[in-house]
Amino acid sequence: MEKKPFVTLEQIQTIAETYPTPFHLYDEKGIRENARRLHQAFAWNKGYKEYFAVKATPNPFILKILREEGCGTDCSSLTELMLSEGCGFTGPEIMFSSNDTPAEDFAYAGKLGATINLDDITHIQYVEDILGRIPETISCRYNPGGVYEISNGIMDNPGDAKYGMTKAQMIEAFRILQKKGAKTLGIHAFLVSNTVTNDYYPALARTLFELAVELKKETKAHIGFINLSGGVGIPYRPEQEPNDILAIGEGVRKAFEEILVPAGMGDVALFTECGRFMLGPYGCLVTKAIHEKHTYKEYIGVDACAANLMRPAIYGAYHHITVAGKEDAPCDHMYDVVGSLCENNDKFAIDRMLPQVETGDYLIIHDAGAHGFAMGYNYNGKLRSAELLLKEDGAVQMIRRAETPGDYFATFDFCDLLKRFK
Ligand SMILES: *Cc1c(COP(=O)(O)O)cnc(C)c1O
Repeated sequence: MEKKPFVTLEQIQTIAETYPTPFHLYDEKGIRENARRLHQAFAWNKGYKEYFAVKATPNPFILKILREEGCGTDCSSLTELMLSEGCGFTGPEIMFSSNDTPAEDFAYAGKLGATINLDDITHIQYVEDILGRIPETISCRYNPGGVYEISNGIMDNPGDAKYGMTKAQMIEAFRILQKKGAKTLGIHAFLVSNTVTNDYYPALARTLFELAVELKKETKAHIGFINLSGGVGIPYRPEQEPNDILAIGEGVRKAFEEILVPAGMGDVALFTECGRFMLGPYGCLVTKAIHEKHTYKEYIGVDACAANLMRPAIYGAYHHITVAGKEDAPCDHMYDVVGSLCENNDKFAIDRMLPQVETGDYLIIHDAGAHGFAMGYNYNGKLRSAELLLKEDGAVQMIRRAETPGDYFATFDFCDLLKRFK
């Protein structure tokens, strides 16, 4: 599918008069419409709720939009919990799925009344010691081990993943939790990341529904919810077919009606924790070409770098690039599009065919709305850019200011040497 940016050259030129590049830009309309489609896809399930994975795009303005669309949050750290609390999410609107968890994180999750999802059986005692009780509603994360294969060859290796409990541990955990006072139990699993197929959630649902029936039989537990977690992907490449969330919802419904309903478990609520799917396509990184270099290859140097978007550098991930204003020009030039870090993996694209790029052109790096800004860092003393929201009425709102040298030096605020940079 052709990848079209949600912003035009004219809009970028106007925005850049106030906010210099590079900046991350989010599309409120796209975010809201997509969230509504997700809810429509699971409307058949009475207790359905999406808990947005905060780590994908931890911005309070984005979280508030998603809350208005009916989402909760999925957190895995103290500060993500605080961010959710600050945005008005309360108790059962917050899922806490963490592993290798510091005690203060569990204490805070307990204080907020968040639903805790235990990654390990030893965490039962750990949580009881920290909170002085076991919450009435609690969840356990499952890892089936081995290789998890979906129909069309897409697979992953849960056996190598650090998360979750074995089936035997799940059974044991459900027995212990009930003895300690838990009344409503949940099951969670995240087995494959960034799936671009309509088969992942339905396949995972089958696995978890069958497990739920077995757990109920073995332990008599009341299973209140099943959490399909994240993993629904987006088409980063133009040749990829996007997921059809309505078809995915129907696939899950079929599994629900075939497995849970006959087992008398038709009241189980379904949860999801989508991050990438909720925000990925609805954010882009806008950067300016500031340098051209001709050596053994043709390079376009831009004012963003891997510190603004690290996926290409660390995973070799593909991010589509549009040269703003040259949407219809032929892609007859091959470039490496590079940032300024002293790391040769700081390349947004390698051997990419693009229209001829001139210094001063704006490049739109697509699908940076999730795991984009969020993974930013300060290597080479690079400062994080602003995040901007393109609102439904076309206005632009700054939702995070760009860092200044003062921010970079803030952790030296006890040190006289750097006082004058504040
Ligand atoms: C990262 C994560 C998610 C979101 O994953 P996406 O691939 O962005 O949808 C959901 N749940 C948990 C527990 C996660 O760690």
